[in-house]
Amino acid sequence: MKEKAVIYARVSSLSQEKDGFSIPAQIDLLNSYAEKNNIEVVKIFDEAETAKQAGRTKFNAMLKFLSQHKDVSTILVEKTDRLYRNFKDYVELDVDRTRYKVCLVKEGVVLCNNSNSHEKLVHGLKVLLAKNFIDNLKEETQKGRLKKASEGYFIGQVPYGYKKLDTKTTVINSDTAPFVRRAFELYADGYSIEKVRETLKDEGYIYNKSSIAISKGHLHKMLKNVAYIGIIDFRGKFYEGKHEPIVSNELFNKVQRQFKKDYKPDKISKHNFAFTGLITCAECGCAITAEIKKGKYIYYHCTGYKKICSQKEFITEEKLIEQFDAAVRAVTISEKHFEYIKKGLRESFIDKKKYDLEHYDVMVKNVKKIQNRLDKLYLDKLDGEISTEVWREKHAKWTEDLEVLQSKISAYSKASKKYYEEGIKYIELLKNVYSIYSAQSNSEKAKLIKILLSNCKLRDKKLSYDYNKPFSYFVKNDQCHKKYPGCDSNA
Ligand SMILES: [Zn+2]
Repeated sequence: MKEKAVIYARVSSLSQEKDGFSIPAQIDLLNSYAEKNNIEVVKIFDEAETAKQAGRTKFNAMLKFLSQHKDVSTILVEKTDRLYRNFKDYVELDVDRTRYKVCLVKEGVVLCNNSNSHEKLVHGLKVLLAKNFIDNLKEETQKGRLKKASEGYFIGQVPYGYKKLDTKTTVINSDTAPFVRRAFELYADGYSIEKVRETLKDEGYIYNKSSIAISKGHLHKMLKNVAYIGIIDFRGKFYEGKHEPIVSNELFNKVQRQFKKDYKPDKISKHNFAFTGLITCAECGCAITAEIKKGKYIYYHCTGYKKICSQKEFITEEKLIEQFDAAVRAVTISEKHFEYIKKGLRESFIDKKKYDLEHYDVMVKNVKKIQNRLDKLYLDKLDGEISTEVWREKHAKWTEDLEVLQSKISAYSKASKKYYEEGIKYIELLKNVYSIYSAQSNSEKAKLIKILLSNCKLRDKKLSYDYNKPFSYFVKNDQCHKKYPGCDSNA
């Protein structure tokens, strides 16, 4: 009988699709692989979504389909990062503990229950690095944005009251700016937000085509927006903007003082405990909560909401941390393992490089395409074939496209370069994880624990947990040495 399989194809963003990493291309590749290997494809699952977006409907549909069709256990996928976005997906589709077989066609790897541990380890690293790569890319893109902001330009949409002439030049919009100015004046005069809204409407100010009056939320935000005094606010940091202010500093400050009068500061927020939300009760499944006793001691215990629980004892935060400490200590790797893992990493780096080159080429081609288009546009304008207005509009649009693409190329190549370095850093981190961890505050510790562990449960003041992949490969004292062929400590 023919082996039966499903195909899973994914693009992580619309731009990826545009850049030529389309779903049809992935499906073609996988279909021809199936044909060559005498595999029958019974269903195709494809989806387009961003890497950070939660919930993949087709991915979940695929898991459901597989659970309902016991005769199908093979998944064909282009490569690792098509299949997983993060650790969570990786854990969900646990090839170690399930009957699934995953063929990573471009990487030439087949993973199943009996793959050797070296293959699994390298695969685990790839998942780790795929995530890492996404983070790097994000960071690089952020850098570009930061640069633009620090030079005084708006990032993305300009605030109400302004309009963009091209990617950089922002001017006051004479249609909407009076609305902003009047709103500030009214609020500074002591009107409430609601009253400002009404008065604006009564005085004939129109917010926009779809709604005459501004919403309270928008008005509130508007009155606090430093853009109106010529400042660019990028992630909480202020830069002097290149745009002209709409209101004076004096008026703006008066409005802020008025806010202070109208809105008393929030009551003291509830204490944030570092480890709540991380642990559940092993007996009843309720959340573990915390409270302060005798003014300074933090105790954790089952909320007991289901009223079926016999776990009544409290555990001190100190005792809880001791147990987390032990969990972190157990993933610290030795020098020997470090060298071994580095080897695996180098292998995966070579795959990554091939992929990068393809991706890079496509982007460079697109840059050329746009440049040609711009040249042609210019000629058309010279020849009088298009109006100045059309020229300006198209020119602005394509120049912006070009800039976006160029910044992507630069972000991409920087992120790629960091891939191997960061990977090494990751493993080095595991070498020193305990000493780094122990120097952190409790809330930072909790963050690391979230990356490291899942299913943290408490019973009779004892913690139980699972290690997330790929960290589970590094855990000491449970047959750890068997997991590293070639560096057996008995050898
Ligand atoms: Zn309980």
